[in-house]
Amino acid sequence: ARSTGGLNNINDNSTATDSNELRAKLVLLGDSGVGKSCIVLRFVRGQFDPTSKVTVGASFLSQTLALEDSTIVKFEIWDTAGQERYAALAPLYYRGAAAAIVVYDITSPESFKKAQYWVKELQKHGNPGIIMVLVGNKADLHESRSVPTQEAQEYAEKNSMFFMETSAKTADNINQLFEEIAKRLPRPTAS
Ligand code: GDP
Repeated sequence: ARSTGGLNNINDNSTATDSNELRAKLVLLGDSGVGKSCIVLRFVRGQFDPTSKVTVGASFLSQTLALEDSTIVKFEIWDTAGQERYAALAPLYYRGAAAAIVVYDITSPESFKKAQYWVKELQKHGNPGIIMVLVGNKADLHESRSVPTQEAQEYAEKNSMFFMETSAKTADNINQLFEEIAKRLPRPTAS
């Protein structure tokens, strides 16, 4: 299912007025090849294009969501752009991030291990209160699954993360992923 719940992609037809705008930096972490770029492209452009790389270097894509309570969330989505190797740079990359999406590939136990490494890094160096999400991507390849859903779910719970399996290819759970993050963002206190 690709229901989008109470959220609309603002590019479509949102007419929210009188709304609070929230900005949130969001970073993706995970092994090369797990589908980080494809997840971002699916969310931002609504397409699956394995041949197009999002960006080079330090830049991000923006996407806006309108929530039911008329909050507008403007995401700045940073993809590692192939810099997974430079672990030492990572703290610069996720500095100021409201949320981190740690991605693995459900067909790759190595990528799940690597995800756990990133979770530890975030626990050490991330902003206190950073929203951490564990994402098992390539859920369409369930016939080759080698990371059991329950194992990942339990790991996520232990580490106070929320967990989802997604497919950038079929769009399964992609919008929901960003919606769940949007819902968890701290709201500014009214003054
Ligand atoms: P990144 O290095 O983590 O950014 O990974 P990419 O987004 O470049 O994707 C790596 C490869 O995985 C590409 O060949 C994609 O076609 C493929 N891929 C990404 N997401 C999915 C998915 O959900 N399902 C399947 N079957 N393949 C995917």
